[in-house]
Amino acid sequence: MLNSRDRELGMHCKITRRDFLNGVAVTAGAAMMPWQLFADDDPATPEKSAGYYPPALTGMRGSHPGSFDAAHSLRDGTFWDSAGKPEDTGESYDLIIVGGGISGLAVAHFYRKTAGEKSRILILENHDDFGGHAKRNEFKVGARTLIGYGGSYSIESPEPYSATARAVIEDLGVSVASFPKYLERDVYASGGRVPKIFFDKETFGADKLVDDPCPFPGGETFDLAVAGPRAWEHFLAEAPMAEAARKDVARLCREKKDYLPGLSPEKKKDRLARISYAAFLKDLAGVHPDVIRLYQNVSFSEFGVGIEAVAALDASESGYPGFSGMGIDASSLENERKYFFHFPDGNATIARLLVRKLIPEAIPGNSVTDVVTAKVNYARLDEEQSPVRIRLNSTAVRVKHLGDAAGAKEVEVSYARGDKVYVTRAKNVILACWHVVIPYICEELPDQQKEALSSAQKVPLLYTNVVLRDATSLQKLGANSIYAPNGYHTHVDADLPVSIGEYRCPRSPEEPVVLHMSKAPCRAGRPAREQHRMGRMELFSTTFETIEHKVREQLARTLGPGGFDPARDILAITANRWPHGYAYEYSSLWDDFVLKGGPTPCEIARKAYGRIAIANSDAGAYAYTDEAINQAWRAVEEIRKA
Ligand SMILES: Cc1cc2nc3c(=O)[nH]c(=O)nc-3n(C[C@H](O)[C@H](O)[C@H](O)COP(=O)(O)OP(=O)(O)OC[C@H]3O[C@@H](n4cnc5c(N)ncnc54)[C@H](O)[C@@H]3O)c2cc1C
Repeated sequence: MLNSRDRELGMHCKITRRDFLNGVAVTAGAAMMPWQLFADDDPATPEKSAGYYPPALTGMRGSHPGSFDAAHSLRDGTFWDSAGKPEDTGESYDLIIVGGGISGLAVAHFYRKTAGEKSRILILENHDDFGGHAKRNEFKVGARTLIGYGGSYSIESPEPYSATARAVIEDLGVSVASFPKYLERDVYASGGRVPKIFFDKETFGADKLVDDPCPFPGGETFDLAVAGPRAWEHFLAEAPMAEAARKDVARLCREKKDYLPGLSPEKKKDRLARISYAAFLKDLAGVHPDVIRLYQNVSFSEFGVGIEAVAALDASESGYPGFSGMGIDASSLENERKYFFHFPDGNATIARLLVRKLIPEAIPGNSVTDVVTAKVNYARLDEEQSPVRIRLNSTAVRVKHLGDAAGAKEVEVSYARGDKVYVTRAKNVILACWHVVIPYICEELPDQQKEALSSAQKVPLLYTNVVLRDATSLQKLGANSIYAPNGYHTHVDADLPVSIGEYRCPRSPEEPVVLHMSKAPCRAGRPAREQHRMGRMELFSTTFETIEHKVREQLARTLGPGGFDPARDILAITANRWPHGYAYEYSSLWDDFVLKGGPTPCEIARKAYGRIAIANSDAGAYAYTDEAINQAWRAVEEIRKA
């Protein structure tokens, strides 16, 4: 039943597909699978249907309903109870890759380079689209197509890209240095749109949008995240915080102060590695409690937890304020900005470029600019005559050597697709999927390795794309990105204005736009891994309707003073839910071995076993595209040398 507030928010309005693709609770049984929407021809091969085009689906995406059921039932030990006898495909490959994310696609790319282009490769992917976290969202508004990123946002990394990863990017035709050519800087600058903070009345006593004088890095705005010319004046006068807190923010961001005088840089780093950024602010910088309230969740987009769980040393390396006078000079920001490229669909373009190299028939065109608007022909991804095949909607459920791992000549892979289980074989298998899944599908691995694989906790994230009829409210409020310390989504960003190939970003405030909103579900105050585990459960059990309600409420409060009406202005919502998001990165606060030394779990986890090798960004415990590629290369080398 809708109440009057729901109606004001527009919960009764029809937005694209909402009614089809609702979320499902963790325990819910049958839900409509996205691919069933397309199954107008043969339900066994939805990808062959003319209308099969997952990027255009809205509603609950990311790990969409239907993508995880088989894996969860394996985890719960119930899968084989109801699975029928596997049907033999009779196929045989040189290599089967489990996981069609950037790591899996890069594995295929490298393997063809070393073993030849005629090598027969099968990629199994449990989602209805390829790319893994590199996910494209498309929206139609009238005749216009808007593109958004549903996951991985850009080519960037705190560490320099390795020669291997750079070579792949160049091989795909991406000239990272050319990015400024596609960035339309004037779109926001000419309209006076700058980063803002939304103070909420529950935390700060008043709903208020104030200039952000010191935007934290880690948002989605590259070097456009520059404070407005009068930001300090506005913030110091208007921010609904104690006066001492406002002054503390200014001290933190503007003064070069050493908060650990008398210690050598090495000793300072050691100390900062052992305390959280929250403790640094409170105990060393001595800020007012309102400053902690303001910044508690600022780290969500980068770390997936609040500042009480982020090591101060990591915060300093990420360029957070407070360290400029400490003589430790650790920030990697410069490096990130030097090697940066954002496509309108984020790194989904990298996945699409890889697929075009592997299966040219599936994606028309031949340049890095024409791929941006190219339409993938999903029917061509899995064809018998093609040396490389990508089989979507297919979850690997069992991977085992045929015989003893040391002497076997083949590996057998069973996978669930629709309501059937199939079995197929290859000379080698590379598992480029999430490490937590591997112990359930590859039972023959040594126990110690399975334990290490299971420890690869993923960081849950929610990336919600909201299509607005226009950006006039943002224009009126002078905002291009908004940090909402206690919002359901903590970051609200208008995408970087990038025009590339035939794609034109929205330029005038009267045009429709995609607003990107992100959230990191977690539980402040607990150990990081526990926070991620609890956040994952929350995300799995949150319905699309709840997310939609939160979006409408948040935008009404934030943009309402600019004339925004959620019932009128929201045209579509895509919630990209990633309960298994970023690879877990080791932290000096939570992982003993970081300070003590010794082998890390990912080194144990990624060991090859017989004819099976292991890739994915989890294999490097590093949540970046370059690592997904580096680990793909290592895994291919391991089977080549075996
Ligand atoms: C929201 C978000 C934003 C990000 N932003 C950035 C960014 O801006 N820049 C950056 O460099 N990195 C970013 N990352 C990190 C990103 O994870 C990596 O860059 C990279 O895309 C990971 O690729 P991967 O192939 O290792 O893993 P994934 O992309 O996770 O791919 C693995 C695939 O294996 C599939 N799979 C799992 N189990 C099975 C099974 N049993 N059978 C079949 N398939 C299976 C999964 O569903 C998945 O599709 C982001 C990640 C997230 C979640």
